[in-house]
Amino acid sequence: MKKMEEKILAEGVILSGGVLKVGSFLNQQIDTVFMREMGEEIARLFKDEEVTKILTIEASGIPIAVSAGFAMNLPVVYAKKNKSSNISGDVYTTVVQSFTHGNKNNVIVNKEFISPDDRILIVDDFLAHGSALTGLIEIAEMGGATVVGCVAAIEKGFQLGGDRLREKGYRIESLAIIEEMDDTQIVFRKQ
Ligand code: 5GP
Repeated sequence: MKKMEEKILAEGVILSGGVLKVGSFLNQQIDTVFMREMGEEIARLFKDEEVTKILTIEASGIPIAVSAGFAMNLPVVYAKKNKSSNISGDVYTTVVQSFTHGNKNNVIVNKEFISPDDRILIVDDFLAHGSALTGLIEIAEMGGATVVGCVAAIEKGFQLGGDRLREKGYRIESLAIIEEMDDTQIVFRKQ
C-alpha cells in the first residue's frame, strides 16, 4: 500500500532495537481517514475468502481490525493479554512473547467466540518475529477454525516472522514491508 510507505517515511521514528514508532497515525493518535483506507485495503485483499470473523490482539490491533470489520461487515474478536499464570474458565489460551516489552503474556479468547465453521482473518499492527500472529493462529486453530490469512499493517521483513509463517503455508499480507531500517534510511520490499 503506497500510502502506508509514504506515512512511514513522513511520520515514522526509528528507535534502537529495530523498533519503529508510528504514534502519530497508528499507535497512539489514530489517523481515522487513513485507518478507513487500511480497512478497505484489507477488505479488497481478502474479498474472495469468505471470511466470517476477524481476530486481533489488544491493544494496537483493535482499531485496524475494527476498520477491516466495518469494510467487510464482520465481527471482530480481540484476544486479551494477561500476565498471570492462573487462567481458568472456558477459554483458549497460548503464550506470546512481547516484542516491545520483552515479557511473556498469556493471550486469551473465550471459547464461545471461535467455532469450527469460522474462516478467520487475523489482523495486527506490526509483524516482527511473528510471536503475536503465531499465537493468534494457534488460538483460532484450537477452536477448529480455518485461518484464511493474516494481515499486518507494517511488517519488518528483516525480523523474519512473516517469511517463516509464509514458509509454513499461511497467507501473510502486509500493507508495507520494511526490508531494511537504520538511522539514515528505510527500504521497503517490492510487493
Ligand atoms: P512479533 O510478535 O511479530 O515479534 O511482534 C509483533 C507485536 O509487537 C505487535 O503486536 C506490536 O504491538 C509489537 N511490535 C513489534 N515491532 C514493533 C515496532 O517496531 N513498533 C511498534 N510500535 N510495535 C511493534
